[in-house]
Amino acid sequence: MRRTLSILGSTGSIGRQTLEVAQALDLPVAALTAHQNAALLEEQARRFRPELAVCAGPAAAADLKVRLADTPVRVAAGPEGLLEAAALPAADTVVTAVVGIAGLEPTLAAVRAGKRIALANKETLVCAGELVMDQAEEYGAEILPVDSEHSALFQCLQGCRDRGEVRRLILTASGGPFFGWSREALAEVTPAQALKHPNWSMGAKISVDSATLMNKGLEYIEAMRLYHMPPEKISVVIHRESIIHSLVEYCDYAVLAQLGAADMRLPIQYALTWPERTPGPVRPLNLLECPSLTFQAPDLDAFPCLGLALEAARTGGTATAVLNGANEAAVGLFLAGKLSFPGIAQRVALALERLPAVQKPGLTEVLGADQAARALVTDL
Ligand code: NDP
Ligand code: MG
Repeated sequence: MRRTLSILGSTGSIGRQTLEVAQALDLPVAALTAHQNAALLEEQARRFRPELAVCAGPAAAADLKVRLADTPVRVAAGPEGLLEAAALPAADTVVTAVVGIAGLEPTLAAVRAGKRIALANKETLVCAGELVMDQAEEYGAEILPVDSEHSALFQCLQGCRDRGEVRRLILTASGGPFFGWSREALAEVTPAQALKHPNWSMGAKISVDSATLMNKGLEYIEAMRLYHMPPEKISVVIHRESIIHSLVEYCDYAVLAQLGAADMRLPIQYALTWPERTPGPVRPLNLLECPSLTFQAPDLDAFPCLGLALEAARTGGTATAVLNGANEAAVGLFLAGKLSFPGIAQRVALALERLPAVQKPGLTEVLGADQAARALVTDL
């Protein structure tokens, strides 16, 4: 089936790579959205001719409207514009590539419109995973992972008749740019160092999350929600080479792994073509040129964010929204030069300690927990 796309966050790292896949597979694009980057959105809109282009920022939207005045592309603004792009009748597939909790309400809108969702925006499942998965079932929306680890798990689960046969999901982690560093050395880390990932080129927020290992913690919660797995059936292993993207261990101890080049266009493409596979823009993996594959345990002492995420996962309810909100605010402060690298984990820990978890939260409780966590982190 040839899918028509609405891409939320098309100017970001995942959004741009999604457009490369769309171009390679000749998939039509019905909507594109950005936050502030009207110049790039204009360029994309001229190339892909969507029905709708949205800038969440009102000034950027006004600018975009002028830029696209000579085209038939309709321009919309604000969070409402994002919701419209998420539920646009012309699109059957919504790629959620917005960063942070800003992706939550548009994802819910796409779910309620019964779309296929190619989900990159992991923060949505971390904050409100149970709510989103329940609604997806109710509205018949498919949620397919774009995150490479979750796509790997999804691929390894394709032959699985019964989830009861799964013993463990094993998430691989590159370890980020500071693998092997001591706590003392990590105290001096600068934003420029944290933004340099050894294996992947990504947006700023997820690059910092990869450096603190919070990204793996968020992915742990994402895996629990996507695959309905309890925390004790998920584990994390450091695999520096980023060639195995994750593994599934079955009850007979058979272990299935998905391997491939470290290229996000492969998981993006699979979320768009599943259950089919097609040739695309990704280069092949040459096993004869692969480095040796290595595996190690994560260092929870030097990288406390991973442990904090596991703790929030076990607490459940709004604890995961607090974890995410506190982390988003702390990463923002770190990138602005106002907080040290270890300060990120310290503030997230304080937020989890001080804010009580509400179980079975609705959207209002999730958004409230997010706001409270941000306020706490910013005011400290
Ligand atoms: P980027 O920062 O590169 O891009 C973010 C996109 O979202 C941009 O289009 C940006 O617009 C838009 N955006 C940012 N804030 C808002 C907002 N408040 N309202 C509306 N739109 C907004 O991020 P990435 O592409 O790296 O990541 C996107 C998501 O995918 C994240 O959740 C991340 O965790 C996940 N992910 C990313 C991977 C990667 O390789 N990059 C891998 C796996 C998951 P503008 O350009 O105008 O600022
Ligand atoms: Mg990932």
